[in-house]
Amino acid sequence: MSSRFGPKPRLGYTDSRIERAAELRPDNAAMDTLTRDPRAGTYVIGGEWIVARKNSPANEPLFSLADAKTLGPATETVFLGLLEGTPRFGYGLAPASIEALKSRNDMQVADLRSIAVQGLVAAEHLPPIAEAKAVLHWHARHRFCPNCGAATRLVHGGWRRDCPQCKTEHFPRTDPVVIMLASDGDSCLLGRSPRFAPTMWSCLAGYVEPGESFEDAVRRETREEAGITCGRVAYFASQPWPFPTSLMIGCHAQALTREIVVAREELEDARWFSKAEVETMLMRKHPQGMTTPPSVAIAHHIIRAWVEDEIGFE
Ligand SMILES: [Zn+2]
Repeated sequence: MSSRFGPKPRLGYTDSRIERAAELRPDNAAMDTLTRDPRAGTYVIGGEWIVARKNSPANEPLFSLADAKTLGPATETVFLGLLEGTPRFGYGLAPASIEALKSRNDMQVADLRSIAVQGLVAAEHLPPIAEAKAVLHWHARHRFCPNCGAATRLVHGGWRRDCPQCKTEHFPRTDPVVIMLASDGDSCLLGRSPRFAPTMWSCLAGYVEPGESFEDAVRRETREEAGITCGRVAYFASQPWPFPTSLMIGCHAQALTREIVVAREELEDARWFSKAEVETMLMRKHPQGMTTPPSVAIAHHIIRAWVEDEIGFE
């Protein structure tokens, strides 16, 4: 659907074309065949860094497994799934290998945020890169069993680690984060983190705690960070956010109070904005140059849906 803002942009890291083919993961023979498939392609990732071959108009982040091995030894190799029958993998590199690649003229080594915002690789690669980055990060932090301390072993194509000593099976985790726009009629609540670019205002956000519903987390975080009490909460959309292993749960919330008390350890500032002002921020026409996050982030979509009157609690 389009509007006065133009066609709706794609939400970053979503709509993966890869079929995860989870049923193949425990099948060692199938995994072996897939890794020897000459059509197999792999993304090469070292922590926050994504490796791509420099190319025009967009860089090429897919390597053959043989080419990936020439870039450095794998910390782990993870099976991401099948793209029209062609296997896709994630290949982890150690920090020393990444540092060596940074000086090569034929390779681009960039962080995923820059790649996504600047469109340094084709958009279709972003979801599998996000998948690979998050699961490789999980491996890097689970080399030892949290139960008994023994070294764990990668199994099931990288979707499980087993402890040979106490026999515990460990599965990759994702951490839910609620991100919400509280509104009261024609006003919405935006905040600024000290980490933001100086002009940017965005939704409030925070981790969901154990034993908490998304709705309760939205109400708690909005009260803790800005002193605003919320009533109804409506789910909007979700987005994988591999920094390092989050899942953003986008919501709109009905604000019941107006007096803001900013938690300075969390936020630099928070205030109410009118719909007209937020519209100028979305369109990059705000008189003081204030902005909302870029369209790769779910916050952009949450804010835009409210400005376009798709959401209301009246
Ligand atoms: Zn153990």
